[in-house]
Amino acid sequence: MIKSITNNADETLQLGKSLGSKLIAGDLVLLFGDLGAGKTCLTQGICLGAGLDKSTYIRSPTFTLINEYQGVVPIFHIDLYRLETEEEIMNLGLEEIIYSKAITIIEWPEKLISNKKPNEFMFGIEERIEIHISSKGENGREFTFSPVLLSSRKHPIFPLH
Ligand code: ADP
Ligand code: MG
Repeated sequence: MIKSITNNADETLQLGKSLGSKLIAGDLVLLFGDLGAGKTCLTQGICLGAGLDKSTYIRSPTFTLINEYQGVVPIFHIDLYRLETEEEIMNLGLEEIIYSKAITIIEWPEKLISNKKPNEFMFGIEERIEIHISSKGENGREFTFSPVLLSSRKHPIFPLH
């Protein structure tokens, strides 16, 4: 487990950039944290690090649910916050995205855990990078990174620098 602390949004953007520059096609990033934790801010950095043009405006997918960008590889930014039922999630076409040759970043991945099987994610998700964000005061944010089942990777993601 790797931890990083940031003290403002710009530092979070930089942290995301370092991570994004190490991601490869097929990677899945799950972002856990409350509203305002910095999930979208970190994603903006990840997208820049993964080769997205600086002028591309990365909006929160709160209402669009899925935003797609073209970096070095395609990047899908997904926000499950507004989805309530398992059926809604099943109908989103997520499985195809997650197992595509894209980088997939998901906010509110808790929604991928069904009541029936509380110990696993839907769609058989196993390989992933989990990032848990917690607030420390108004502007402090602690990021805990846990790469899960990424041992087959040629180049390790961590440490980030
Ligand atoms: P989320 O997607 O988790 O709901 P956002 O990234 O949209 O959160 O928003 C994070 C908010 O917190 C922004 O308004 C940002 O300016 C503020 N903020 C304050 N400190 C930090 C920090 N260290 N990292 C990221 N955002 C921060
Ligand atoms: Mg968000």
